[in-house]
Amino acid sequence: MTQNGIDFETYFKHYPDENGYFGKYGGSYVTPELQKAMEEIRDAYFTICKSRRFISELRRIRKEFQGRPTPISHLERLSASIGNVQIYAKREDLNHTGAHKLNHCMGEVLLAKYMGKKKVIAETGAGQHGVAMATAAAYFGLPCDIYMGAVDIEKQAPNVARMKILGANVIPVTEGLATLKEAVDAAFRAYAQDYKDSIYCIGSVVGPHPFPLMVRDFQSVIGIEARAQFTEMTGELPDAIVACVGGGSNAAGFFAGFLNDPVAIHGVEPLGRGKQPGDHAASLQYGEEGIMHGFNSIMLKDETGAPAPVYSVASGLDYPSSGPEHAFLHDVGRVQYGTVGDDAAVDAFFKLARMEGIIPAIESAHAVAYAMELAKEMGRGSILLNLSGRGDKDMDYIIGKYGIR
Ligand SMILES: *Cc1c(COP(=O)(O)O)cnc(C)c1O
Repeated sequence: MTQNGIDFETYFKHYPDENGYFGKYGGSYVTPELQKAMEEIRDAYFTICKSRRFISELRRIRKEFQGRPTPISHLERLSASIGNVQIYAKREDLNHTGAHKLNHCMGEVLLAKYMGKKKVIAETGAGQHGVAMATAAAYFGLPCDIYMGAVDIEKQAPNVARMKILGANVIPVTEGLATLKEAVDAAFRAYAQDYKDSIYCIGSVVGPHPFPLMVRDFQSVIGIEARAQFTEMTGELPDAIVACVGGGSNAAGFFAGFLNDPVAIHGVEPLGRGKQPGDHAASLQYGEEGIMHGFNSIMLKDETGAPAPVYSVASGLDYPSSGPEHAFLHDVGRVQYGTVGDDAAVDAFFKLARMEGIIPAIESAHAVAYAMELAKEMGRGSILLNLSGRGDKDMDYIIGKYGIR
């Protein structure tokens, strides 16, 4: 399938290019010291991760440790409550640790082991990436340093406890606002000093090349499984697929299975409280081109050109940019990016729980809300959404703030 001159039959051969660009987005904007480290990871990725041994070991881990393949569920009662469109969910909430993030963390830490690294370094905001990293590091027996803003540590006590139980070293970062941005800077600094013996693992399809490529490829297990499962279940492809977009890793991996198919693809960004600056994190909707955290993409900036403050009820979605591949697929028109606000996401959170017995992560509830609206517009056909994670982590906050709906 071809769109705006891009042939999706051969897409994965050409995107990203050898310097990590998807069109004009991507690249690697880091210090010369870190650039050396990125090149080492890139070279290791193209050799080690393409080897038979690595691939078969990762396959075994996915099956025996992560519990893959995750199933697809037909959301029959939810579908019937809307009309004739049949809605299905790919169940990443059933992946070990309860979300998709472990898919790329297991790949990255397995790579670290093959590279002979002695330690893994990561940052975390809400703690979801930290928990997935701590899990992978424990599995492979590698020490794990997680940098986390002191303010976030205060707010995310259960995830901090999980990381510590799993044996990770949670390092508080007290500079500036003491949240994700400062944690990213601190993790990069630590890594630059120690890159020979350690590896830095990023939490989404963001950051300098090769991370957007590598994380997309590790996450593409979602889309590859989903395409085969859905065609086996129904005898055809879905008419549309939907995933939420924070940095964009669950969406990138899910979409990868369907880019060359006659399937409408929808990414969902968080509209938070509304479209005023600071009230949302819909970077592709309202942002402009810029460089942050080592890559060029579309981002939300403040008056000075720095990453703007962003907000969403879903802490996994409140990031002021999205991965470069999403910026590219947005410009090319292969993926439609829409938005869902806090309120609709909270409604969908309860609706999926009540009608299907699945409590979704509040991030994933954005995709559920969007799919319900899309079903009304379509009138007939099928929608497959990616349920990126389970909602146990969100229950206390949602009930405390919104009550039981
Ligand atoms: C972290 C997270 C997200 C957002 O990250 P992406 O990189 O955009 O996928 C979405 N859903 C869940 C459950 C998460 O934990």
